[in-house]
Amino acid sequence: MKAATRFIHAGVHPDPSTGAIMTPIYQTSTYVQEAPGKHKGYEYARTQNPTRTQLQNALAAAENGTFGISFGSGLAATDTLLKLFKPGDEIISTNDLYGGTYRLMRKIWEDFGLKFHFIDMSDAENIKKYISKATRMIWVETPTNPLIRIIDIKACAAIAKEANALLAVDNTFASPYLQNPLDLGADIVMHSATKYIGGHSDVVHGCIITNDKTIADQLYFLQNACGAVPGPQDCFLLLRGLKTLHVRMQRHCENGEKVARFLRQHPKVAKVHWCGFEDHPNHVIAKEQMRGFGGMMSFELKDNTVEAAEKLLASTKIFACAESLGGVESLIGHPASMTHASIPREERIANGLADSLVRLSVGIEDADDLIEDLNQAIG
Ligand SMILES: *Cc1c(COP(=O)(O)O)cnc(C)c1O
Repeated sequence: MKAATRFIHAGVHPDPSTGAIMTPIYQTSTYVQEAPGKHKGYEYARTQNPTRTQLQNALAAAENGTFGISFGSGLAATDTLLKLFKPGDEIISTNDLYGGTYRLMRKIWEDFGLKFHFIDMSDAENIKKYISKATRMIWVETPTNPLIRIIDIKACAAIAKEANALLAVDNTFASPYLQNPLDLGADIVMHSATKYIGGHSDVVHGCIITNDKTIADQLYFLQNACGAVPGPQDCFLLLRGLKTLHVRMQRHCENGEKVARFLRQHPKVAKVHWCGFEDHPNHVIAKEQMRGFGGMMSFELKDNTVEAAEKLLASTKIFACAESLGGVESLIGHPASMTHASIPREERIANGLADSLVRLSVGIEDADDLIEDLNQAIG
């Protein structure tokens, strides 16, 4: 089955009690048992919920995977995954990681004895230097935020296999439409479904997908034992969002390309980071492992100052200044004063985040309007 058909049909079935084509929101905390222990597979709603079950199956199918496990947020998914490990275990992670994931690893899990290496993976060979007997997992996020660097998933999978470690990929930025890490050799895929999968900026949700039954069983156990579960209404919104993922992504890609090309020729723009440009340092890998280049990008101004970027952000009329990404509406952000404000300036600049760097999540509005908006705002 091709992606477009899978996103609409796979994993979901008409409701058995009524035939409702859309999975109902099973807003219940418990299920009546015929006799003690005699039930229809549903006992208590932290453990199982029919709306969640359908969503988990649909998300698994969207990633060409077997098992889907849903959580109340992307970070809840990652937090639960990290509970697979024991004190002394080592995890090798990317250095330009989503800030919340970095905070979770550094400020919470390090205190419980996990050891993290945050390293540059733009050349996957670099990972080998950090492999030890204690390495249990390689954690990859690609494309990265906000510089849209690309990490070679296949190469990471080979290194993980040789080290007897798991490869997990945060696939939030690409979405299951543009990239399927399990097909490239990853063991685990994680999504902040808050972003492209939900797609309408109205729900916070996370999920993990895997083909490995042992890992899945451990995660289902942790999902119930630790309880970071999503509510049924959120699951319904995600099921609804997933059905249009492919058409939204096609438009995100088209608009992304138009906006990136417009910005690149603008006399006041110094540099545009978008993985669809042939001279992007990782373009070849992007082309190999992704079906398109998406609507995420960032750019620097020739007037490379915080003030110039802030002026631009104050002037857009369609692009809304907000954190998050992946919704139908276009968003604009300034990493230096928003998502990356807690990083000291020298360190931020050493990591390639210029003062004037502006990040865009290009939505699915009319591309001409988006370009006109940026043009008047850049001035
Ligand atoms: C938003 C995001 C997360 C965290 O997900 P939440 O749903 O906000 O908890 C993790 N990784 C990436 C790449 C993200 O963009």
